[in-house]
Amino acid sequence: MTDESSNVRDVVGVKPAAVLAKAFEIRTVGDLLRHYPRRYFERGELADLSELRPGEQVTVQVRVVKVDAHQIRPKLHKTDVTVTDGTGRLVATFFNQKHLPRVLAPEMEIMLAGEVERFRGKLQLKQPDIALGANGLVEDAGKLVPVYPATKSLQSWALRRSIAHALHVTDVLETLPAELLERRGLVGRADALRMIHEPEDFGDVERARERLRYDEAFVLQVVLAQRRNLLALEPAKARAARAGGLLEAFDASLPFELTAGQREVGARLLADLARDVPMHRLLQGEVGSGKTVVALRAMLAVVDSGGQAALLAPTEVLAQQHARSIAALLGPLGQGGQLGAAEEATKIALVTGSMSAAARRSTLLDIGIGDAGIVIGTHALLENTVRFFDLGLVVVDEQHRFGVEQRDALRSKADTPPHVLVMTATPIPRTVAMTVYGDLETSTLTELPAGRQPISTTVVPTADKPGWLERVWARAREEVAAGRQVYVVCPRIDGGDDEQVGDLTEHGDGWAATATVVDIAPMLSNGPLEGLRIDVLHGRMAADAKDEVMQRFAAGNADVLVATTVIEVGVDVPNATAMIVLDADRFGISQLHQLRGRIGRGAHAGVCLLVTGAEAGTAARERLEGVAATLDGFQLARLDLEQRREGDVLGQSQSGRRSQLKLLRLLRDEDVIEMARADAIALVEADPTLDRHERLRDAAEALAADERADYLGKT
Ligand code: ADP
Ligand code: MG
Repeated sequence: MTDESSNVRDVVGVKPAAVLAKAFEIRTVGDLLRHYPRRYFERGELADLSELRPGEQVTVQVRVVKVDAHQIRPKLHKTDVTVTDGTGRLVATFFNQKHLPRVLAPEMEIMLAGEVERFRGKLQLKQPDIALGANGLVEDAGKLVPVYPATKSLQSWALRRSIAHALHVTDVLETLPAELLERRGLVGRADALRMIHEPEDFGDVERARERLRYDEAFVLQVVLAQRRNLLALEPAKARAARAGGLLEAFDASLPFELTAGQREVGARLLADLARDVPMHRLLQGEVGSGKTVVALRAMLAVVDSGGQAALLAPTEVLAQQHARSIAALLGPLGQGGQLGAAEEATKIALVTGSMSAAARRSTLLDIGIGDAGIVIGTHALLENTVRFFDLGLVVVDEQHRFGVEQRDALRSKADTPPHVLVMTATPIPRTVAMTVYGDLETSTLTELPAGRQPISTTVVPTADKPGWLERVWARAREEVAAGRQVYVVCPRIDGGDDEQVGDLTEHGDGWAATATVVDIAPMLSNGPLEGLRIDVLHGRMAADAKDEVMQRFAAGNADVLVATTVIEVGVDVPNATAMIVLDADRFGISQLHQLRGRIGRGAHAGVCLLVTGAEAGTAARERLEGVAATLDGFQLARLDLEQRREGDVLGQSQSGRRSQLKLLRLLRDEDVIEMARADAIALVEADPTLDRHERLRDAAEALAADERADYLGKT
């Protein structure tokens, strides 16, 4: 007998094992057994070809009449398979499955499943799932025939055979305590795996999925519970603000009143910092909710206690901006070492990749001897040459731009584990917070500072309303005439650029015509925005050029900034009131929400115009309408996740990156996740090292060690 940790080679042989590893990252027998069917063919109740209607999802058992293969273009191969069931005919078309003509022949019995379409007046199935029958592969299966995510070289039926064999020879061990199985009414692991791969009926499939879904949630929550326990055991230095110190002086000098949320979260952070276990807290807050000042107050408390605080920002533009705005907020309190500075003042250090060698040397010295209490920087902060005197707090801004390695690299610069605060403006639905960020405590800023003006968002469809684009530029001129400023965002820098593309890869035939910064800026200055002061900003500009542009815009010395998504996060210019996004369908929901967050930050109302060539009724258009319909980041995050889920499902059948969470869906399975979390916390509390749950411990270790578990890494 093999077990789940055995090499898959032992079960399927060397060559198929290589294919499995390459196509699906399947390396162990357990990986293979967790390669679950995407769907099932149900035998017996088959659709009648003469009754098919376009738009229907059908499964048909049919006989092959003929197979026609064509090379349409160099990289496009098409196979038309004409089939019959005696009552009618149908053509199934397959693209780039060159092996099909070799395995299909007239008179063969096959099963097809897919959506019926009408093409040139005839019914067809485009790219259906297929199962072969004539060689006995379907006949030897039960009433439900599983269909697996497959590749060209490893077809579903071959996978079915390998998995059936693996099930037969593997000793599947139970990972859950019997008490838990019983309390939650779950089937055993061995049964579940058999029932999902070789179900008798859909009831089997459901019970199997329920159990395996719970498994995914539970093992993950066990890992997270253990991790939280470990973190809590680490010693840390308590960092408390002192009376008459920097924080107090800062609070007294603040030009605005903190919101209730800022005060509440602030108090929470100060309480965390005053404990001798390291803080691990996630601060989420809507764009513009004022996270920076909350973080700054925590940083000042640490400086008060004699330590240093580091703020890590994802881009140079943002690091520069933080340095400027923190210097402005602190005033004389941030000019330590200079003449006339306040007595309790500290020094602010900025570390970026583009500093001159001399500036870098003196800055690193300030950091090394502890003169700089507040250190702000980009990835350049993580380099080995950056040494702290006594790093007490690490703040990571816009956490979603970083990985765990980067946070750890910064953490490791402290002698004792520092306190950690990560901030994100990308709202995180509860279940995601419980899984992806499950080892962090969470705080949320829900309100915006008083006096913020509303933002109205409008989708501008150029396909059905061509005249609207003129209105867009007229509106831009109106804003500028009123003394305001305008962002124009393009998906790309220029025609040859792939990097700055919005985070969606799907695109129609508009690819060639996608707006680029390099084309749009002159087009505007020679056309609809003639006479206005127009600047450009993108990721390929030199760092100091970028900073110069940003400063000019922030100072109000440019009217229009034509940019890529370099301005997506953090940029804070309260006088900017219009955000015009070109080819908006090329951006994801959260990106658009972030971009929109660049306006409405001051005393004036904002307008966000999402220009798109996407046709009414398309998914892209719906996504944009969704963004326009609400300013609620949490609602948008849900929408985003729902849409991505579909993307993941598609992605699975096409190979590529694949998550450890195969059955669990973060939104749909909220109740499963909550249940598993409660169970995991109770179990880890009773048995922290899992000595009494050996197999569970193995499963948890395997998950934690699995470098592919990158969703754990995001914390
Ligand atoms: P985000 O949470 O998106 O990072 P910021 O920290 O950049 O938001 O804050 C946005 C703007 O609001 C900044 O200009 C900041 O100085 C200002 N701000 C923060 N808190 C308040 C407040 N309580 N009242 C007024 N303005 C505030
Ligand atoms: Mg911010």
